[in-house]
Amino acid sequence: MSITIALLGNPNSGKTTLFNKLTKSKGHVGNWPGVTFDRKEGQCTFKDETFKIVDLPGIYSLAPYSPEEIVSRNYLLEEKPDIILNIVDITNLERNLYLTTQLMEIDCPIVVALNMIDIFEKQDNKIDIKQLSDNLQLPVVDISASNNTGLDKLLETIYENYNNKRNATTVLNNFALGKYIKELNDLYNGSDNQLFYTIDRLESLDAIDGNNSEKVEKIKKEAINEYNGIDMEAVIADLRYQYIIKYCSSLIKKSSKSEETLSSKIDKILTNRFLGLPIFLLIMYFMFHVTFSENFLFIDDLSSPGMFLKDFVEDGIDNLGTVVAQALDNIGAAPWQTALISGGIFAGLGAVFSYLPQILILFLFLSILEDSGYMARASFVIDKLFKSMGLSGKSFIPMLMGFGCSVPAMMAARTIENEKNRIMTILMVPFMSCGAKLPIYTVIMSAFFKGHVDTIIFGIYILGLVIAILSCFLLKNTVLKDDDSTYIMEMPPYRMPNLTSLLLNLWEKTKGFITKAGTILITAIILIWFLSNFDLHFHLLDEPNSKDSILGVIGNGIKFIFTPLGFAKGEEGWKFVSAALSGFIAKESVITTLGQLFSTTIDSIDDAPTSMALTHALQNSMTTASAVSFAVYNLLTIPCVAAVSTMYKELSSKKCFFLAVLFQIVVSWVVTFIVYNIVSLIL
Ligand code: GDP
Ligand code: MG
Repeated sequence: MSITIALLGNPNSGKTTLFNKLTKSKGHVGNWPGVTFDRKEGQCTFKDETFKIVDLPGIYSLAPYSPEEIVSRNYLLEEKPDIILNIVDITNLERNLYLTTQLMEIDCPIVVALNMIDIFEKQDNKIDIKQLSDNLQLPVVDISASNNTGLDKLLETIYENYNNKRNATTVLNNFALGKYIKELNDLYNGSDNQLFYTIDRLESLDAIDGNNSEKVEKIKKEAINEYNGIDMEAVIADLRYQYIIKYCSSLIKKSSKSEETLSSKIDKILTNRFLGLPIFLLIMYFMFHVTFSENFLFIDDLSSPGMFLKDFVEDGIDNLGTVVAQALDNIGAAPWQTALISGGIFAGLGAVFSYLPQILILFLFLSILEDSGYMARASFVIDKLFKSMGLSGKSFIPMLMGFGCSVPAMMAARTIENEKNRIMTILMVPFMSCGAKLPIYTVIMSAFFKGHVDTIIFGIYILGLVIAILSCFLLKNTVLKDDDSTYIMEMPPYRMPNLTSLLLNLWEKTKGFITKAGTILITAIILIWFLSNFDLHFHLLDEPNSKDSILGVIGNGIKFIFTPLGFAKGEEGWKFVSAALSGFIAKESVITTLGQLFSTTIDSIDDAPTSMALTHALQNSMTTASAVSFAVYNLLTIPCVAAVSTMYKELSSKKCFFLAVLFQIVVSWVVTFIVYNIVSLIL
């Protein structure tokens, strides 16, 4: 039998870090609220016991208002863990202990872990832990999850306590309210988690059903009178804080030298009303500059680290491709075999794989910004901007995660309590350019905007953001009309990003990419190869990728839809249409498909490197305006199938889902149309 430990605490208190340390697993650790959505389980052994640890979503309270609160609350009340491990960020003691005062009302043993003790001590602060433990009547252990200190003592304390029966207590007993709680509690003697439900009933604004309803209402009325008619929920919250301030946070001896000041000095600049947004944009621009620039630091022809790595990987793949093509030639492979392997897999996967370094660099940047605590500031800045337009800023974090991948980003929207805001955020996320769309812009833009690729790609990302904000604005004032909910963004302290956790994140990302290439992308390539090498009667074509192929017929059949957008014009137009459509499988497929469909333009395999061949082919079959239009269309159109199915799951109604998809289709078409015409006029 294993002992079940429920890990509970505020967002950003270090639950996942502790979970990973204890279970040696690699959950995603992030320095912003709401990174853990679903519960995660892991195991560790201590002495003769197996501990099963459950990492629950971060919550501020047990009130059933947000989806996370409901998940955690139901877990505690229904699945009844053996012990609660309440992780408390000591640098934010008051807010964190609020949850503790609710947890202690449940009939379950609790151990409190005071985390981030390293930061606390570095600031020369002191706290009397024994006294705190006595006041709370709970065991308290100080730890630093990220530095691995105090973890043995923590396990030891859990080991000593999991078997002890603990009777629920409440800090509210220290106040006049305690009398009413006792009266109410006596009415329901002996039921499970009785104290918790009693207080829940007292807070509830709804009338209580059941046999005791009249007595309950009477006691509630008396209690409310005692507190001058103020709503019980507010009274109880206030009393909890009064208790915490009097008996807990007063135990902290703050040093006069506090690092707070440095952090708040930095915040004054980074979240400044006028400077905040330009700084954010500058940081983003710098990120693109490092990743894509061919004139790094504005020095002519100096590759940025991202470009350098890309060229390096690209050369490697090209050389490998040549070797493989020659080998196939030597062993006398059939032309279709050569075509599938060289023209399909190498041309296709190669085109995408060369962009892996850049995707990783962008991802590394975002991780560093996230881990250092800057993202929360950015979110705060954007929140102000959004608010001035009547929107909520809580959508910003999911939107930002959308730069990585829409799937987790849409799930992150679960932290938004307001249903309409949540729907809206889910709609906006796909407009954020995900990592998989990156190769599309890079390939297309390097063919037309040599030397300015970084600026153009930055522009595309900003366009996505602007379209998201505009659509938000549009929806907010039409179908998704709603009062604005207030949004309190918590500012995590600045931290030095943790190298191991950064590298782990990068490794996870790389592994994911390789898996995707080996499964989905390869399948798409083979499918496209089949469709572009066979005609409607399933005969292998002499000339692959011709307009007589199945794909050619389909592409030409529907290209009229895309003709006004520019990229479908001309002989080769169907290839772009097919590539854009293949993006539904995965966005990387847009480029693998283009790589495949244009691979015949290379006369001989060792004539030119594949990547160069694709660039030349694009220059011959597109105009600058249609290239921009193609990039913009791919930025805005419906996301890949994985994201669409997540959207389906996250949007509760079918109608809502279909409208959302329709919305994206329409917006992408209209905006691309406008962009194409503007660019055509200018150039
Ligand atoms: P969760 O939201 O509660 O799961 O919190 P995370 O585990 O994602 O941690 C939030 C941030 O706090 C991350 O940047 C961690 O690296 C950092 N962190 C966690 N524990 C400690 C600690 O003991 N000391 C310090 N200095 N940082 C920590
Ligand atoms: Mg977490």
